[in-house]
Amino acid sequence: MRSKRKRFWGLAVLLPATALIYVNFRHLESIKRDKKVEGLIHRDFQYVLAVSEKKLNQKAYTMTEEVRDLFPAPDGDTDADKVKKLDLVLAKNPWLAHVFLFDRDKGLLFRSQPQQLNDKYCREEHDIMEKTFGGWFSMEGQMLVEGMHKKTRPIMWYTIPTKRDGADAYITTAFFVLPQIAKDRVVMGGASFDPNYLKQSFFPEMLDGLINQKLTEDKDAGANTGLFDSAPARLAMMVYPTDYDGGQEDKPLATSSGWSKGKPEITRKLDDVFRGLGLGIKFQGTTVDAIGHRWVMQSFLILGALSVLMIGGLVLTYRSVSKEMALAHLKSDFVSNVSHELRTPLALIRLYAETLELGRITTQEKKEEYYRIIRKESERLTALINNILDFSRIEAGRKEYDFRDTDIAALVSSTLDAYRYQIEQQGFAFEQSIDQSIPVVRVDREAIARALVNLVNNALKYSANEKFLGVKLYRINDRLKLEVVDRGIGITRREQSKIFEKFYRTGDPLVHNTKGSGLGLSLVRHITQAHGGEVQVESTPGKGSKFTLSLPLATAT
Ligand code: ADP
Repeated sequence: MRSKRKRFWGLAVLLPATALIYVNFRHLESIKRDKKVEGLIHRDFQYVLAVSEKKLNQKAYTMTEEVRDLFPAPDGDTDADKVKKLDLVLAKNPWLAHVFLFDRDKGLLFRSQPQQLNDKYCREEHDIMEKTFGGWFSMEGQMLVEGMHKKTRPIMWYTIPTKRDGADAYITTAFFVLPQIAKDRVVMGGASFDPNYLKQSFFPEMLDGLINQKLTEDKDAGANTGLFDSAPARLAMMVYPTDYDGGQEDKPLATSSGWSKGKPEITRKLDDVFRGLGLGIKFQGTTVDAIGHRWVMQSFLILGALSVLMIGGLVLTYRSVSKEMALAHLKSDFVSNVSHELRTPLALIRLYAETLELGRITTQEKKEEYYRIIRKESERLTALINNILDFSRIEAGRKEYDFRDTDIAALVSSTLDAYRYQIEQQGFAFEQSIDQSIPVVRVDREAIARALVNLVNNALKYSANEKFLGVKLYRINDRLKLEVVDRGIGITRREQSKIFEKFYRTGDPLVHNTKGSGLGLSLVRHITQAHGGEVQVESTPGKGSKFTLSLPLATAT
């Protein structure tokens, strides 16, 4: 029955728990193998880069549109007036390198930031652009204008490699149609973003703005995996040239703050406004690899800790369930033991009383023997019932002790005297040693006598081959000791701690065949503790046992 329950417990609780732990560990293992974490972060990075490109472009479009609104109309003004107006646009927008106005009927007006013309590269750029654009627009101007009109924001972008201060630089130029001009006229304006402005202001500021916004915005978009929220590091971004020679990921054109060194985790080639550039992203001061690794490690640790807790919980549950089951088992044994113990003496008493009543017994000797048996059996009944009553009072917390000044040596002697006959009749060698000089102590006489009787009874019950009983009362310093010794079956070390529990009986076959309720020793312990003392057992299986009550003399007086 019990082993069946255990098996059920194993199946119902242990199996799913083990399976859960196993599946989780396998899952983590597979994440580790698939580099899933890295994959997820990379997906998030790609999303951030796409959004960033859109924002960079939008900003460039908006700036261009603002400049476009300042442009002179192609008609009305003289060329000199238009040049003046273009120069004014340059003056108002120092971030522009060049502006121009093209009219197929009137030609190209191309103006550059005056102070920049001191720069050799800038002058070269001016000359090349003026020449190229003039020729290109007169041939393909119409096509360009028609193309632009088809766009929602009629602006086109053109990039060429250039140089500033002897180093490669990046310039982008916007071509746009003027809003108030009829669609069939080949008139267009243009504005070039100054390379130094792009490198030193536009990109660094935009990138900083982007990484600061990014986290919160992405959350709203719901597009990320949530890894960014718990990511230990902030993002960093940079732009780098992709097209011309030397365009490498580790040589950024401009970076956000916190980029420091190193390669981006993910890059994206830009199109439209900033064709020829790439956008790169990574974490500040750490790599996706490291984060992925840490994430997996953390998950392992958490899972490990949870598993330990779960196993701990299971073990505790198991132990308490087994304990409850064992107690239930003991209780049912107790009921059957007690009913048996009650029935036997009652049957004997009835039998002998009936025999006497019939008057068939003639010899006085026989009669006396019958009387003695009746008395002995009633005493056993009384002892048992007293034990049970005491026990139930203790369990209900209603046990009261009646402490009185007592000559303990006399108490022990008289208690043993009542048993002496029984002891000797059962063939026991009986030794008693009682120190008569022990001072008066305050004890509950009945309780102490009951404790002693229980110990003596046990010694008688659990002795097989060598029948010896020793009782000793003595004092050591301020303690009073009462020893009950036998040379009986003994108790294993493992069971020595359990015999004082209620209902507990050892597994020895002799114990099994001997009547008992498993209450005696739990009463002995309760009584001793109520007197401020303790009870100890020393025992060797097969050799015998020694139970020692130890009571304090001080509190007893
Ligand atoms: P009971 O004797 O009614 O079974 P107790 O509480 O007095 O209950 O004892 C509990 C158990 O301890 C006994 O069943 C027996 O297994 C063991 N025990 C007690 N005293 C002795 C002893 N002197 N020698 C061997 N075993 C003992």
